[in-house]
Amino acid sequence: MQLVILGSGTAIPVADRFPAGYLVTSERTTVMVDCGPGSLRRLAQAGKGLPDLDAVLLTHYHTDHCADLAALLFALRSPHYAGRRPMRVFGAPGLQRLVQKLTEAWPWLSPRGYQLELVELTPGRFSLQDLEVTAVPIRHTAQSLGYRIASASGSVALSGDADECDELVELARGTDVFVCDAATPDGQKLEGHLTPGLAAEHAERAGTKTLVLTHFYPECAGHDVAAMAAQRFAGRVVVAEDLMQIPIRP
Ligand SMILES: [Zn+2]
Ligand SMILES: [Zn+2]
Repeated sequence: MQLVILGSGTAIPVADRFPAGYLVTSERTTVMVDCGPGSLRRLAQAGKGLPDLDAVLLTHYHTDHCADLAALLFALRSPHYAGRRPMRVFGAPGLQRLVQKLTEAWPWLSPRGYQLELVELTPGRFSLQDLEVTAVPIRHTAQSLGYRIASASGSVALSGDADECDELVELARGTDVFVCDAATPDGQKLEGHLTPGLAAEHAERAGTKTLVLTHFYPECAGHDVAAMAAQRFAGRVVVAEDLMQIPIRP
């Protein structure tokens, strides 16, 4: 499996980091986890097209994690994609309402030429082709989810936005790669988010092999966030950059 970072940034516009988006590919399946604004452009830059995409998993409904959902639904109406396989979008309860309200505002988001499947998730496990996905409630908004995605050849956990919680450890337990919110440098913690040191503490407790720090606010510029994490985590630390490719393997 492979992970591509589509966006390692936040709602604050900066030149080099788009808002949240991640691509996970296995032998048979391609899923995007979150699709913040610009994720579709990054997808194209990563050499993938919408025909490749099987599903979108949303961690929560802050716009830096899902605003490109509207752009995706509009794009999929193009004759380019007519007859494609169904697009499946997964998220916490509220997904149906979000898409309904978006479609009230923008009637041209309603599906044409393909089927849209919206799936509201409760915490638990489900199969997605050759992937096994586990949705875990994470402390951030009232209904934030983290996702653990596993196949026969590896496992990855993605925190979404996250504050300190035991569920984060459960999410990442024993994974090959753990992508975790590290929004601001140690000592400058924001409510609802983690720092590199706190991400590392959760990763260490979870026994993950590789910790990928991401979701960097501009405050992180000029700080050695990898060193902050390495003080509390014995595994490999990666500092996410947009379009970075990270292999997922045991
Ligand atoms: Zn965010
Ligand atoms: Zn958020």
